[in-house]
Amino acid sequence: ADSYDEECDYLFKAVLIGDSGVGKSNLLSRFAKDEFRLDSKPTIGVEFAYRNVKIGDRVIKAQIWDTAGQERFRAITSSYYRGALGALLVYDITRRTTFQNVKKWIHELREFGNLEMVIVLVGNKSDLSESRQVSEEEGKKIAEMEGLFFMETSALRNLNVEEAFLRMINKIHETTM
Ligand code: GDP
Ligand code: MG
Repeated sequence: ADSYDEECDYLFKAVLIGDSGVGKSNLLSRFAKDEFRLDSKPTIGVEFAYRNVKIGDRVIKAQIWDTAGQERFRAITSSYYRGALGALLVYDITRRTTFQNVKKWIHELREFGNLEMVIVLVGNKSDLSESRQVSEEEGKKIAEMEGLFFMETSALRNLNVEEAFLRMINKIHETTM
């Protein structure tokens, strides 16, 4: 059973960005298919996934794009961002460098993306608290400074994943309809 053919009232595009290995593809497969994979496969073969979300009496179809590993080579092009109304900007709470690069990703979003884009900053792998290198406070702080929403998630334990995507989708719905 999939929802590809379900009627929808509204379709929009959103993108996943952030350093390689932070968990983007697993966050997406959790949200779209409720799946998680332990092996790190940089390419999942598909470039986007859909999920229908009901808001009030409307069905919103979110088309969420994932990098097929191009982020490792800094090879994400402007077409990836084109038309996107939302972004999940993901870092790994156990690797500080991925947090330090958040600024670089924000810069890229502002350069190539829609200015009104709804951005949710996501600190993923919250299940690995014993190897945490970035505090939740630090995440909150940069999100506040940059005007982003913020959430810590675990794709592995399925914590806050749905909430992070839904926050973005609800906000897009609010601002565009
Ligand atoms: P991507 O390169 O950003 O798409 O990252 P992936 O989704 O491929 O994940 C990279 C690695 O991190 C894989 O080995 C995943 O199993 C692992 N991973 C992803 N999310 C989590 C998480 O929430 N917790 C833990 N412990 N590992 C995760
Ligand atoms: Mg990936």
